[in-house]
Order: sequence, then structure tokens, then C-alpha cells
Amino acid sequence: MELTPARVAYPGKTVMLGSIPVMRALPVRERRMVGPWCFLDRFGPMTFAGGKPMDVAPHPHIGLQTVTWLLDGEIQHDDSLGCAAVTRPGGVSVMTAGGGVAHTEQTPPDHSRVLDGVQLWVALPDSHRNGPASFSTTPDVPVIESPAGLVRVFSGTIGGVTSPAPHRSPILGTDLEIHPSGALEVPLEASWEHALQVLRGTVSLEGEALGNEQLHYLGPGRASAVLSSTAGARVLLIGGPPFPEPILMWWNFVARTPEEIAAAREDWLRHRRFGEVKAYRGARLDAPQLTRPGALRAAGPRTRDGA
Ligand code: MN
Repeated sequence: MELTPARVAYPGKTVMLGSIPVMRALPVRERRMVGPWCFLDRFGPMTFAGGKPMDVAPHPHIGLQTVTWLLDGEIQHDDSLGCAAVTRPGGVSVMTAGGGVAHTEQTPPDHSRVLDGVQLWVALPDSHRNGPASFSTTPDVPVIESPAGLVRVFSGTIGGVTSPAPHRSPILGTDLEIHPSGALEVPLEASWEHALQVLRGTVSLEGEALGNEQLHYLGPGRASAVLSSTAGARVLLIGGPPFPEPILMWWNFVARTPEEIAAAREDWLRHRRFGEVKAYRGARLDAPQLTRPGALRAAGPRTRDGA
């Protein structure tokens, strides 16, 4: 008997990132990770007259990579390494936190008055999670073109095409554009797990419509997926091998033990380890109160106010 691969829709939740409402698709209560991906925030599409809709003050990270991918608009990144960059549609920015880094994310002064994109986090494997921090940005990721649509490869490899993003374990991150009346077939690693999130338009997976406010998890056992759209659509496709290490996630930290979380929080409060984001004018983000380490352990992986 052949097993049918799992397909489960998890509703996202709306949280506030400063003044911006975002839909958090990962982690949710019943789905903490998809491969090494442990966090997915969807922001926009939004338009604004002026001001600075995104303004995330200096905050620390450990044990993860942030991946910023935009459909529209701009985000300016500055970090405690002194790296500065503006991410734009078609390019990807990856910050590797390793043992510790701090950064800010803002709408730049020169902007197009729109914002539409995602931020994802990747859990670093134990062999790399205490390594050096770094930042990498590329203005144009590789694109696979076919009559049915485009595959923009911002992380990992698909169809023999590889993103330059510097990841530390097997991974896939793509933005699929399905042309009107198109049926786009993408190859999948059958031993990996994957997930889809609709970014624009209306799209079906093998004839069944995908809800817009949900993460559509696809369990191992699939060699491909066919996505179709009448009027055209954009869909995020992420995946990887089921992550072999249990992680502990709290605020902006990915660790393994409550003691590591407590130590990182203490270092942030005492201006140790992470450095300062000298390019930013304004106060840093305060770390939230730490739950008792026992409670943190009992509650399992948890995130608060990620940014
Ligand atoms: Mn951040």
C-alpha cells in the first residue's frame, strides 16, 4: 500500500511588528519548523504616504539566519558588524547570527511607498550555531523560466539552479510565479518536507485551492508539486530535510537549552557579546522578561515578538 503524503493547512496568526501587522505563519502551535525554517512572517502588501512603516530598533539574534525576500518596496539593514544594505525585490539578504549579532531593519528614506514581502529564519545546525556572524546580500537571485511561470531561487537548489545565499544545511526557498492559466510543476526532494504560502492571487495545488492566510505543509513523500492559477499568482515554497536537532526558540534567539537563552538575554542587557548598531539613531529594543527556565523547558519551543 502506498502512503499518501501529508498535506495540512495551519492558520497563521496576526501579530504586530512595531506599527505593522504581520501574519506569522511559523512557528504556530502545531507546526514549529519546515526543514530548517523556523520562522515566517508575511508583511504587506501595504502602501504608505511617508514616514517609516518598518522601524525595528537594534535587537540581538543567536543561532539562526534571517532571510529577507521582497515582492515590492525596500528594507534597509544595518548591523553590529558595520554592514549596511538595502534589500529590493528580486534580491535576497541573509544575516548569519552565529553566536551573536545585532541589527536594525527600517524603511529607507528613499522608498517607493510600498512594502510587500517576507522574513524567514533558518535554524543553524549545532556545528555552525556558535560560529562567526556575517551578512550577505545579492541583488538578483537566479530565476528558472518556463511557459507556465517563473521560479525565483533565493535559498538552496531546485532544478539544478542554486542561490548564492550562504546556508549551512540543506534547504530550499523559492518564490513561484504562476502565469495566468499556467500549471507550474516544480520538482521536490521526496525525503524532504515542504510548505507553501500564497503571496498573491489565487492558486490551486493539484486542483485544490490554497487558502491565503494559511501555511500549507506538505510532508515527505512527494517528488513534485503542480500549482495552477487562472489569473496568475505568486506562492512561497520552502523546504528541507526534517531538522534533526530539537531547538529552543525564545524572542530572537534559537538555542538548545534555557540556560543558553538566559545567558544571551543577560549579555544583551549588559551590552556584551552582540556589539552596537552604530548606524541607527535611537534606543535599542528591550528583551522581554524571561519566563522561569523550568517553564520555558516545559513549554517547549516558543517565540515572542520576533523581528
Ligand atoms: Mn531581526
